[in-house]
Amino acid sequence: MRDMAKSGLPTVPASDAESARVLVAEDDPLSRRVVEALLRKWGYEVLAVSDGAEAWRVFQAHDAPRLALLDWMLPSLDGVEICRRVRQNTDHPYVYIVLLTAVNQKQHLVTALDTGADDYLVKPFDASELRARLHVGRRILAAQDELILARETLRFQATHDPLTGLWNHGEVLRVLEQELARAARARQSLAVFMLDLDHFKLLNDRLGHLVGDALLCEVSHRLTACVRPYDAVGRYGGEEFLVVVPSIDAATALALARRIRDSLSDRPMASPGGPVTVTASIGVAVSSIEEPTEPLALVRAADIALYRAKEAGRNRVESCLAEESVLEAPNQPHASPC
Ligand code: GH3
Ligand code: MG
Ligand code: MG
Ligand code: MG
Repeated sequence: MRDMAKSGLPTVPASDAESARVLVAEDDPLSRRVVEALLRKWGYEVLAVSDGAEAWRVFQAHDAPRLALLDWMLPSLDGVEICRRVRQNTDHPYVYIVLLTAVNQKQHLVTALDTGADDYLVKPFDASELRARLHVGRRILAAQDELILARETLRFQATHDPLTGLWNHGEVLRVLEQELARAARARQSLAVFMLDLDHFKLLNDRLGHLVGDALLCEVSHRLTACVRPYDAVGRYGGEEFLVVVPSIDAATALALARRIRDSLSDRPMASPGGPVTVTASIGVAVSSIEEPTEPLALVRAADIALYRAKEAGRNRVESCLAEESVLEAPNQPHASPC
């Protein structure tokens, strides 16, 4: 679930090729063959069925065509009922539906549109009109896909750090809050690691900011590789990372934090400036099973532990109890970046 941070930007939901696939549901064999032949001539890939229930089965597949020509009168499920079901099926991509009807009555057509059809054609219809109406459908699907892509891109940008692709400050805190609530309900403990790279300013000064950026990306990869997909890794600020590890006890959390520390320091990182050894100090705080723990108290405890790790010589792991952070709260030793 929390693996999204490892993925890149969202991809375009549908391609032009996808909207060129059409489902034709028509029980009259002659009409079906005529429509099929026309569509193929115009470059469409056609999936033809003769029964309503069969059409509905096609729509339930994850790669169902996004354009459909449905005859109103079909055996087992009629076209209007299929429209109604498709519109209720909101977790599938939008399907543009043209209903074919033999009855040119206003009330009839209003019913079809109300139930979810996007358009209709009265039989017998003109081939060029069918072609034009399918074009309209493809145009609308393309416009909708662009909007979805823009929305997903915004959503990604609002929750991810642009340099590393990890969760950003706000999102990793939101995940912490959500996971703490879940942990309390399940009576499980949860760990937070606050990780800060050692003497990173010196590395930047010596090698330049671009090399520094490349090192931050490599740190992100190594961090992500150490944890489970469900754990959340976020860039908390400049060279600080916050890791949220649900369902873990204190001893296992400390062992994991040490593994993370070692995975950074064990072998040098390749960078445009040559191999560089990067180390980190890590503060660990684990929520209590008995007492409810506030997210920020846990972050503060991890911060205090981090400060101790720095004081004790860096490239170390230290821990702090959430209760201690309450006592030490007025003198926050390690300021969190905004
Ligand atoms: P310490 O061991 O005490 O943590 O020392 P430090 O040098 O890591 O700590 P300090 O807070 O003085 O410096 C952090 C440095 O991290 C300062 C800044 O140059 C660098 N930094 C922060 N964000 C970025 C970034 O996005 N890219 C690069 N290249 N460097 C960054
Ligand atoms: Mg029919
Ligand atoms: Mg720092
Ligand atoms: Mg640092």
